[in-house]
Amino acid sequence: MLDADFFRRWMTATAAAVDREAERLTALDSPIGDADHGSNLQRGFTAVVAALAKESPETPGAILVLSGRQLISTVGGASGPLYGTLLRRTGKALGDADEVTEEQLTDALRTGVDAVMTLGGAAPGDKTMIDALVPAVDALGDSFAAARAAAEQGALATTPLQARKGRASYLGERSIGHQDPGATSSALLIAALDEAAA
Ligand code: ADP
Ligand code: MG
Ligand code: MG
Repeated sequence: MLDADFFRRWMTATAAAVDREAERLTALDSPIGDADHGSNLQRGFTAVVAALAKESPETPGAILVLSGRQLISTVGGASGPLYGTLLRRTGKALGDADEVTEEQLTDALRTGVDAVMTLGGAAPGDKTMIDALVPAVDALGDSFAAARAAAEQGALATTPLQARKGRASYLGERSIGHQDPGATSSALLIAALDEAAA
């Protein structure tokens, strides 16, 4: 079973990964964006960690809802409302149980990813965070490690794609040949899930 500590470890490990990789995320956002993805997420996940320490939510659902709310209110870019919706809707789907099964987490994450697709209008293949998140959720039924590998593979596979959503889509064909920053940060989020499970 996955308890509140597991979800706290997930958010803390994500914040640490975002700190470690902030420069790379911003560098990826330079040729096909506005070079702020690393700093956007750093601001967001710093606020997440601070809010979790201050408010000490006690259930998996409450931890993710609070985290999502922080991202929505502190990240100015497109990724804030999208990641915020992912965590908030995943958290809501978990309800108020003290512990959840891996299967319940998989179902809840699928609900969260669906909400991101509804909000942002992106489908798989549009060169966004969805290209890492959808394969990750599909593989999560097997294991956390499989989800992590699928997300990393999904992020790498955005390179040859032309962006159809977000700022990168303004570049048209010139967006081809660059890895998507949001898919890359989504792979960090899923890797952190695997770290929390270890
Ligand atoms: P901004 O583009 O506002 O500066 P960020 O740089 O923080 O925001 O985030 C950019 C990332 O957000 C992209 O790499 C992409 O993965 C993701 N993204 C942008 N628009 C969408 C969308 N409509 N649906 C899903 N993801 C999106
Ligand atoms: Mg940007
Ligand atoms: Mg921006």
